[in-house]
Amino acid sequence: MPRSFVREARKRVGPKRTRVRPVIERLAVEHADAAIALTFANPLELLVSVLLSAQTTDVNVNRVTATLFQKYRRPEDYLAVPQAELEQDIFATGFYRQKARALRGTMTLLIEEFDGEVPERFEDLLRLPGVARKTANVVSAERGNPQGVVVDTHVRRLSQRLGFTRQEDPVKIERDLMRLVPREDWARFPHLLIWHGRRICDARRPRCEECPLAADLCPSSRV
Ligand code: SF4
Repeated sequence: MPRSFVREARKRVGPKRTRVRPVIERLAVEHADAAIALTFANPLELLVSVLLSAQTTDVNVNRVTATLFQKYRRPEDYLAVPQAELEQDIFATGFYRQKARALRGTMTLLIEEFDGEVPERFEDLLRLPGVARKTANVVSAERGNPQGVVVDTHVRRLSQRLGFTRQEDPVKIERDLMRLVPREDWARFPHLLIWHGRRICDARRPRCEECPLAADLCPSSRV
């Protein structure tokens, strides 16, 4: 895109600080049902679902966990079977060896240091094997205590298109979003962008003509 066009577009929509709230409000109306798509009944199931969701779809994870969570109810259950059996049970989520190792390492630490409970503190979540910032952010947000902003592929693309960040690296994007997005919206903001990305602002063909942000809030609008 020519630089002059980008400058013009930014001028047209105004600074990001004044746009972020109306963007959130409009997306909240457009995607009133935006929420996590993983199915879970408690913090342990949430943590396992998020760990399994790496490199696969939430629909696929839900299909696997529908039976998995009947067999594995407590951290001890993940350690009571041979690793190969756990691998088989999560096979359909892909990267099953890596994920089985992470799950067993996580369950061991939960039992040894946290009385078998998923810890509340962000720093403690990050100590669990296989739990990086994104996973810890999802778990914290879903428990009502967001510590940052989840950045996945949709959040990254939309934040860039909306002119909320110029960064490519997820950690730097998150830092920009934490400065920009009001703290009370840290949990719902990623859901809104994810659902908008899935339904309207497609990676290859954004449907700007149907987008409620196109007229006055998005510098990348094609209409
Ligand atoms: S106007 Fe187009 S590019 Fe901007 S958010 Fe909407 S669909 Fe995406």
